[in-house]
Amino acid sequence: MTPERYAKIRRVLSLRQPTLTVLMDEVNKPHNFSAILRTCDAVGVLEAHAVPPENGGVPTFEATSGSAHKWVGVQTHSDAVSAVRALQARGFQVLATHLSDASVDYRAPDYTKPTCVLLGAEKWGVSGEAAAVADANIVIPMLGMVQSLNVSVAAATILFEAQRQRLSAGLYAQPQLAAGALERLAFEWAYPELAPLYRERGEPYPELGAGGEVLS
Ligand code: SAM
Repeated sequence: MTPERYAKIRRVLSLRQPTLTVLMDEVNKPHNFSAILRTCDAVGVLEAHAVPPENGGVPTFEATSGSAHKWVGVQTHSDAVSAVRALQARGFQVLATHLSDASVDYRAPDYTKPTCVLLGAEKWGVSGEAAAVADANIVIPMLGMVQSLNVSVAAATILFEAQRQRLSAGLYAQPQLAAGALERLAFEWAYPELAPLYRERGEPYPELGAGGEVLS
């Protein structure tokens, strides 16, 4: 761990947005899943959510993620409706991407509120049930011949609108993570091989110096 690397870890964590997330509902192609995680990292999403496809687990990560899976945790859920309800219970507005005339333009919502963007499977999109329990349905206007965007492109378009709104509201100007969570994650990101050993032993993580060196 170099002081420069540790400084970068702390800088990135101080920009993380615990109140912005995505829920991927059976996104089954690994390159799409990985590309969405990579965008999440770039925008500052702390943790993503996923309903794994029925015929498999969370798609495997591959080169497309650019190692983003190391920096964005993925919490899995059994189905989209219960995942939406669980996120709403935590105070998130859930915006379902839905290709319908009744959906609002994706730039209309206030993304400075705790927000989860619900993304649908490549073949069939967001289910009617999940769209119905969401707080709003959003759409990126399509003015060409094809009906829809690739899911990772749609995710990036919407998440960077969220980033734009949050930047102008000052949400990246000071850490959104609680101090304790930031210190915990700083140790886990700086020492990914050591952190599980401390957890297994039930011991607190050691204190780190200004340059990321282990002090105790
Ligand atoms: N036939 C599917 C449908 O009707 O929803 C198309 C699914 S599309 C290929 C996969 C996912 O990408 C969608 O569920 C949505 O999350 C996202 N998406 C694609 N185009 C979009 C658009 N114009 N607006 C919002 N989301 C879009």
